[in-house]
Amino acid sequence: MKAVIINNFGDIDVLEYKEIEEPKIGPNEVLVQIKAVALNHLDIWIRKGINIRPKLPHILGADISGIVVDKGSEVKHIDIGDEVVLAPAISCNLCYECISGNDNFCKSYSILGENVWGGYREYINIRGEFVFKKPNNLNFIESASFLLTSLTAYNALIRRGNLQRDEIILIMSGGSGVGSVAIQIAKKILNAYVITTVGSDEKIEKAYEIGADYVINWKKSDIVEEIKNKFGRIDMVLDHTGKMHINNLIKIVKNGGRIVTYGATSGHIAEIDLRHIFFRQISIIGSTMGRRSDLIKIIDYYEKGILKPVIYKVLPLEDAKQAHKILESGEVFGKVVLEV
Ligand SMILES: [Zn+2]
Repeated sequence: MKAVIINNFGDIDVLEYKEIEEPKIGPNEVLVQIKAVALNHLDIWIRKGINIRPKLPHILGADISGIVVDKGSEVKHIDIGDEVVLAPAISCNLCYECISGNDNFCKSYSILGENVWGGYREYINIRGEFVFKKPNNLNFIESASFLLTSLTAYNALIRRGNLQRDEIILIMSGGSGVGSVAIQIAKKILNAYVITTVGSDEKIEKAYEIGADYVINWKKSDIVEEIKNKFGRIDMVLDHTGKMHINNLIKIVKNGGRIVTYGATSGHIAEIDLRHIFFRQISIIGSTMGRRSDLIKIIDYYEKGILKPVIYKVLPLEDAKQAHKILESGEVFGKVVLEV
């Protein structure tokens, strides 16, 4: 089968399109012919070997849709020919955390394409319990596009941030994969008032189209001034930028407000004034991925059309280099997806 593998960490040239052996399945596994795999910034971090350096050779790609072409004797809930999506992470399914539903706290929790091989390839074998029917109303490209980002946004906003109806939230980088879902979850599921930031004027209209109430081009305006003048201090912030904005975000949230962080793209070592945190009783809350049970709910939201995929560009698998280049350019609004 064809695959895009990495044999070194580095720039886009380490992505090699080549022939590798097809995987075999065990009795509790399913063989999926991959039809689409979406990119995440995680793919770029891993390709570069920043923070995460899996054993090489390695295959990237967490967000996978496809068709079941074979299954082991113990897999009952899925049939050959079913059109499916895969949970973007696997876990042991046996420990206390897994059984109590907090599988993203499992010690063996592994995102596909991070420390296990992912979906930049034609076929994947995976345990049956991580395979779900895709939404009927979405094609394979759309179905692959929403998995990791929606799970991340849902967990950060609802499970960790406890966002309430009608609260005012600032979602940083509304054009990012997670940002573009978070806007929709906050608006369409919780009817929050959604402020978001974008990095260019071209993205402003797109952010309004997916449900934002107020959009700021952070390269042109001072986020703190604009929000304080317009709204006063706000209830909650969702951030993945890290070092660059954290002190501004602390200034923006009201007494008792929450900042949920799920990444640190601009740097992970930040100096903060703890007096703001304790005097004003601000919570800084971490969030990573989400519960597999919530993925079932998320798939349902997409099937009902409450949440909608936001796709920026589709390229064939062999153009993975180009796809990485586009994602790194920062011009993206929504997801870049590879068609397999
Ligand atoms: Zn576990």
